[in-house]
Amino acid sequence: MKRIALFPGSFDPITIGHESIIRRALPLFDEIIIAIGINSTKNYYLSLEKRKSLIQQVFAKESHIKVLSYKGLTVDFCKKVKANYILRGLRTSADFEFERGIAQMNKAMVHDIETIFILSNPEHSAINSTIVRDILRNGGDVSAFIPKEIQLK
Ligand code: ADP
Repeated sequence: MKRIALFPGSFDPITIGHESIIRRALPLFDEIIIAIGINSTKNYYLSLEKRKSLIQQVFAKESHIKVLSYKGLTVDFCKKVKANYILRGLRTSADFEFERGIAQMNKAMVHDIETIFILSNPEHSAINSTIVRDILRNGGDVSAFIPKEIQLK
C-alpha cells in the first residue's frame, strides 16, 4: 500500500517551520499532500489561491508533493484522497496538548489513520504564521521566516 500523508493547515502564509517539517517527512512517505483547510468562520490574511500558489512555488521541484484544499473534516478528506497518515509538526508542549486532542479524536473517528508528529527544529520553534502576518501588516521584513523560493511584502 502506498504511504500517503496529509499535512493539513492554514498556511497563512507557509513558513520555514512548515517547509522543514514537510522536507524532513518526505523520505518517510511515498507522497505528501499539503492540504489547505478552508474554514468559513476564519478570516484569512492571504487568499486561498495565493496560499496555494506560494506552496506550489516552494515545492515546484518535488514530484511527490501535491497541494490541495478541502472543506470539512480532515479525516473525511484523508479517505477521499486515500491518505493513511496525517502529518503534524510540534513546536512546544502547548502544540502537543492541542495536537494530542485532535489526533485522539481523529483516531476515535477513523481507526486506520495514524497521526505522525515531527518535532520542529529548535531554530523554528518560535516561528508561527500569526506573527509572520503581524509583521507583514506592519510593513516588516519576513524574509527570514518564509521559504527562500517566495517573497511577501
Ligand atoms: P493550523 O491552522 O492548523 O494551526 P498551521 O498552518 O499553523 O495550521 O500549521 C500546520 C501544521 O504545521 C501544524 O501541525 C503546526 O504545528 C505545524 N507548524 C506550524 N509552524 C511550525 C513551525 N514553526 N515548526 C514546526 N511545525 C510547525
